[in-house]
Amino acid sequence: MSSVPSVATSTHAELARRLSPSVRFNEPMARHTSLRVGGPADMFFVARTTDQLIHAIEQAAELTVPWTVIGSASNLVVADDGIEGFVVKVVASDVREHAPTAGSETLVEADAGCILARLARQTALQGLAGLEWAVNVPGTVGAAVVNNSGAFGSCTAEHIVDVSVYLPFQGMRRLSATDIGHDYRTSRLKRRELNAVVLSATYRLVPGDREQLRGRIGELQRLRRSTQPSGFSVGSVFANPIGDAAGRLIEACGLKGFRIGDAEVARLHANFILNRGSARARDVTELMRHVQVAVWQHARRWLAPEVQLVGRWHRDEIDALLLPPGDLT
Ligand SMILES: Cc1cc2nc3c(=O)[nH]c(=O)nc-3n(C[C@H](O)[C@H](O)[C@H](O)COP(=O)(O)OP(=O)(O)OC[C@H]3O[C@@H](n4cnc5c(N)ncnc54)[C@H](O)[C@@H]3O)c2cc1C
Repeated sequence: MSSVPSVATSTHAELARRLSPSVRFNEPMARHTSLRVGGPADMFFVARTTDQLIHAIEQAAELTVPWTVIGSASNLVVADDGIEGFVVKVVASDVREHAPTAGSETLVEADAGCILARLARQTALQGLAGLEWAVNVPGTVGAAVVNNSGAFGSCTAEHIVDVSVYLPFQGMRRLSATDIGHDYRTSRLKRRELNAVVLSATYRLVPGDREQLRGRIGELQRLRRSTQPSGFSVGSVFANPIGDAAGRLIEACGLKGFRIGDAEVARLHANFILNRGSARARDVTELMRHVQVAVWQHARRWLAPEVQLVGRWHRDEIDALLLPPGDLT
């Protein structure tokens, strides 16, 4: 049984009581992140249904306990000192198909905790086209909406009809794709202009030939395997700067294989950082900073992180990675 965290307050205890018996204290986040780094979350809860998700956030908001929602934690660098407050991992994963409304389109609504790649495979094998690009993209439907996840020239924004969200103290809303404000790998949700929890997303899919879709999926999987490393990572660490590729810029600095601690710039794809065993979050961020400075000095391009830093980071550590260089020469 997990012990009560040292920072526990009466509100933490009350939140745990209200969600009893499912809250865990001091949950090591390295168990949940794809990079296998990250210290403990003060409180941790797995939402298996949308109702549980809403209830958990509602209670945390009411008690003013800071909360963070995560999916598969495949885009997060969680601080070694862990995450303050309450972390809710969303695994609610019902899928509902709505009869075609216009023409031959089928609307597929998936709960936020659905694994996007699984949904992409299932719909393709059913003869519904539109999500094949996502068949190798890790993570959940909810986070794909937040990040506007994409691959092979397609992205979430192109296929979303609407999104159901929960806003603390306001309730549920259905937002259009325009309300979400998608841009390259971001949205109003990611930019925190909208403090909402994604409950489900509805995709517009069209009929496709099953054999062709199966072939396309196989092709994309082969392509992935030949260009992206396996191992513990967060995928692409930096967003591609306009007109260039972050991986190309990093490779041009001769940084493939460069290591800080057990964090290593991947040899197969330089925009990936791998945890080779016992990397700490701080090794990863120091390596990111090293890469940013090297690329700046070599090519005068600034690589903005695509991954998110979550948890007890110092403000200056975050700023060092987010802000364009000031006095770097
Ligand atoms: C090997 C590898 C390959 C990758 N390839 C790609 C790729 O090709 N294309 C691409 O776009 N990305 C890629 N990624 C990154 C990752 O797949 C995406 O960023 C994905 O959207 C993250 O999903 P997640 O469930 O893991 O989100 P998390 O990392 O858990 O969370 C990401 C953000 O979403 C928020 N969030 C999560 N769920 C909700 C919710 N229900 N409501 C509100 N906010 C929520 C979190 O608070 C956080 O801010 C890759 C990652 C890996 C490890």
